Amino acid sequence: MSGFDPHDAPPEDQLNNCIRCGLCLPTCPTYQLTGRERSSPRGRISLIRAVSEGNLPIESAVFEEEMGDCLGCLACVTACPAGVQYGQLLEAARDQLWRQRSPHWPWWKRTLANLALGLFDRPRILQALTRLLFIYQRSGLPVLVDRLLPGKLREFQRMLPTARWNGSRQCIPALTRPPGGNRGRVGMLLGCVMDVLFVKENLATVRVLQRQGFEVSSPPQQPCCGALHAHAGRLDWARHQARRLIETFEENPVDAIVVNSAGCANLMKHYPSLFEDEPEWQARALSFSGKVKDVQEFLAEIPLDPPIPEAPQPLTYHDACHLAHGQGIRQAPRRLLKELAGPGYRELAEADLCCGSAGTYNITHFETASQLLDKKIEAIRASGAARVGVANPGCLLQIRYGLRKHNLPVQAEHPVVLLDQAWEQAETADRTP
Ligand code: SF4
Ligand code: SF4
Repeated sequence: MSGFDPHDAPPEDQLNNCIRCGLCLPTCPTYQLTGRERSSPRGRISLIRAVSEGNLPIESAVFEEEMGDCLGCLACVTACPAGVQYGQLLEAARDQLWRQRSPHWPWWKRTLANLALGLFDRPRILQALTRLLFIYQRSGLPVLVDRLLPGKLREFQRMLPTARWNGSRQCIPALTRPPGGNRGRVGMLLGCVMDVLFVKENLATVRVLQRQGFEVSSPPQQPCCGALHAHAGRLDWARHQARRLIETFEENPVDAIVVNSAGCANLMKHYPSLFEDEPEWQARALSFSGKVKDVQEFLAEIPLDPPIPEAPQPLTYHDACHLAHGQGIRQAPRRLLKELAGPGYRELAEADLCCGSAGTYNITHFETASQLLDKKIEAIRASGAARVGVANPGCLLQIRYGLRKHNLPVQAEHPVVLLDQAWEQAETADRTP
């Protein structure tokens, strides 16, 4: 008898699609680090199949460990010749673990998990916490606390980004009009973490779209997209978020929904797979997902007017997992950044190897994440670049932390920020008599 209950069971067709060829193994970061079959995609799929066929109890410590140790980076999806959608298997397995195993956890652990995920859909609380962080960071206390905190906690403090008082919802109007002709109306996802901790990136996205002649609709009531919930295996919660976000953009019709966070866009493009048992919602999700575009994908598909000005400092690019492996977007950011840096553009070695961020993996699996981060920073150092384009908030936090830790004077920025800066500089130069 299957160890999974029928609600959100890992899809059998995906389990059966795996032909156990092992082509995914060399691309898997956890397999690279451990050399263990069970920590590879093929090994994890075998574990899921064993539970599905009733040959392994879901309580098995190995099963729980491997579902938790996987980064969810989806490098195995790119490598797989059989088209196994490993992400669906992982999220469903985690969902089953949550529903079947977490009632046996200590109450505080379950409550903490719920509170942490609940925060992402509480913009006011997130904003208040960010303001507390802003005050703390300006109080001088972090220097003292840094000396007092023990090893890992000290590193967590060092990972924190610099907070701003106002979040995106305070800085970005519900509708921003372009100065000249109007090429259409696009929606913009403000995000949850992006909303409060990546305000610069959100503002740059609006400016870049506006400069290209688009009206930008950023409905302030929009909820978190549910990507972190799905990644944690909380599929019903992710569905709830998806329904609310779909409704928001049904009430505020747009030609495209532009997203500057790779993890969010990846889930939003895959919303229809969340609603396989709900035909009405699946149809609405299909219409919504058809409009979702990563901001770089969007910009690379339209004629740019004004064109990208050249800013020739050495520049490289890190592939965010959920952009390269999740959405198959590799060329669009490179095209934009090559235009920006001209001959200064250089490829990063193992550009699509995970940096270790992976949602909250860098906190829950600090050591493994640090090994991956060290490799990434070494590759950036070897590239000789002065700037690195990074199109995902989690990767930005992780890589900026790694650059500080290794004293590497390289600026990590979202590509849309680099473009915005170049356009602003060109406009300032044009205005200067
Ligand atoms: S998602 Fe990444 S870490 Fe997990 S099995 Fe696939 S390649 Fe390995
Ligand atoms: S590459 Fe695909 S088919 Fe081959 S073992 Fe990995 S998941 Fe299975």
